[in-house]
Amino acid sequence: MVLLSLDIDGTMEVGDPPGWIPLEWIHRAKAKGYVVGSASDRTKTDQRLLWERHGIELDFIDHKHKLDEVKARFPETTRWIHIGDGEADALYATKHGFEFHFVDAVPEEGSPGWIF
Ligand SMILES: [Mg+2]
Repeated sequence: MVLLSLDIDGTMEVGDPPGWIPLEWIHRAKAKGYVVGSASDRTKTDQRLLWERHGIELDFIDHKHKLDEVKARFPETTRWIHIGDGEADALYATKHGFEFHFVDAVPEEGSPGWIF
C-alpha cells in the first residue's frame, strides 16, 4: 500500500503560494486505496481548517518533520512518497525513507517513480 504525503504551500493548488498539484490528486490517490495526507509547516489546526474548507478528508494531517511518526501509524504501507517545494521537505522525506519529489520535478505520468 502506498502512503502519499503532500506539502501544502508552494505544492498544492490551494497552498499559499499555490503549487500545481490539484486536489484531484487526493481523490485519485484515495480511489487507488492510498493512505493520503498533508505534511506541512502549518499548524495542524490550520491544515485541518484548510481541508475542511475544501471538503477534503485525509488519512493524516501532520508536520513534515514528523514523517517518521506518520509512517509508523500506517504499518500496512510499503511505499512512502512525499512531494514538496522546499529543502526541509527534501531533508525530512529522505531522512525518513520516503521517495521525495520536488513539486516541479514530479515524474511524468507512466515513467519510473510515477505516483500513480
Ligand atoms: Mg512548501
